[in-house]
Amino acid sequence: MELKYTRKNVYKEADGAELEKIYDFAEGYKHFLDNSKTERDASVEAEKLALENGFKPFSFSEKLKAGDKRYFLNRGKNIFLIKVGKEDVAKDGIRIMVAHVDSPRLDLKPNPMYEEAGLCYLKTHYYGGIKKYQWTAIPLALHGVVMLPGGKKKDVCIGEEDSDPIFYITDLLPHLASEQSQKTLGKAIEGENLNAVVGGLPAVDCGEDEKETVKAAVLNLLNKKYGITEVDFQCSELCFVPAGRARDVGFDGALISAYGHDDKVCAYPEMRAIFDCDSPHTVVAVFADKEEVGSDGTTGMQSKVISDVIETIAHSFNANPIEVRYNSKCISADVTAGYDPTYASVFEKRNSTYISCGAAVSKYTGARGKSSTNDTSAEYMGFIRDVFDKDGVIWQTGELGAIDLGGGGTVAKYIGNLGIDTVDVGVPVLSMHAPYELISKADVYALYKACLAFCK
Ligand code: MN
Ligand code: MN
Repeated sequence: MELKYTRKNVYKEADGAELEKIYDFAEGYKHFLDNSKTERDASVEAEKLALENGFKPFSFSEKLKAGDKRYFLNRGKNIFLIKVGKEDVAKDGIRIMVAHVDSPRLDLKPNPMYEEAGLCYLKTHYYGGIKKYQWTAIPLALHGVVMLPGGKKKDVCIGEEDSDPIFYITDLLPHLASEQSQKTLGKAIEGENLNAVVGGLPAVDCGEDEKETVKAAVLNLLNKKYGITEVDFQCSELCFVPAGRARDVGFDGALISAYGHDDKVCAYPEMRAIFDCDSPHTVVAVFADKEEVGSDGTTGMQSKVISDVIETIAHSFNANPIEVRYNSKCISADVTAGYDPTYASVFEKRNSTYISCGAAVSKYTGARGKSSTNDTSAEYMGFIRDVFDKDGVIWQTGELGAIDLGGGGTVAKYIGNLGIDTVDVGVPVLSMHAPYELISKADVYALYKACLAFCK
């Protein structure tokens, strides 16, 4: 019997075959990430993979039976994957795995376009918690949808192919930045300065409005390609995200840098686990929208949709939905702040999670005196520990940084509020919410094994 607890490193514990599995799994993850920059992209990609894995569209009026595999795409921005098991759903409940698929980014304002000094710009309003200075002078891609009058929808994705142009937000040259460099990080780049350059070629024959010839030319291009006019921006959801693909990091390729690990790095292993598991339980995976802005609205985790899905499953078996909820169990998977030795002072090293040390379990999140947290019970932590240990899952536990230096929350509390035992499990990330975040391949794979063990 081990009397002392020692954190394990996934890579150190892995033999050659396991290492190969870890690196293989990462290839599938990177592919998913590259196709999942926004919650819309991620939901559509998940739908595609669900169809390939034998899932069929879900209906709230259908009677499900054991063996059924369904998916519910909620408004194109939030998806539920449902796999019905043999166990009695009233007594056994549902094994629920949750993650979010929205990531911090720059949304377009409703009236975004203007021209000044020979350049055409789009004004943005940032979404989620960003450090604004990180979004200047990097390649950006434009993703989203525009509604045309009459209900026709245009999908937009520009900046991801090598042949595509990218978009660009300027920063001040160091030569003229003596005033700017005296400002605090949060003030050096203001929200109203996050204006992306989208054109520089004046129209030759611009007709009535000779003052804005570049803007006229850009609108002309957009109209030719998408059929949109300037007013259509008011009925759109367009955003700038970092352009480019997920890349291996390090001479050994042990890590991955990419946009949007938070929280696709948890959604992907959950999705693979529901596809791959052969479970007697009914399993539901939920990929939510709006986590970065409070989880409100029709596609956020505070929406009633999850209760409606649970009720539909319960009614299929003439079970009481309340009983089903109370007997359900949930893993709420979201990233946590991995210990970063470069910024050691904001961590408490005995209670931090570490890169490559496995699935990161957080009993509680929150700020100050654990404010606004789903504080998992000792009983449920004990259950999770047994589930993971039985299947050899490498996991660790820690807090998001040292006390009173900040803090953060996840969607766990919204599931907990439904009367469902829920624990935060995720992946440690470095540079969270930066345009390119950093994670370890070992931890994504460890989370996949954790989800498989949970579904079992
Ligand atoms: Mn997150
Ligand atoms: Mn986040």
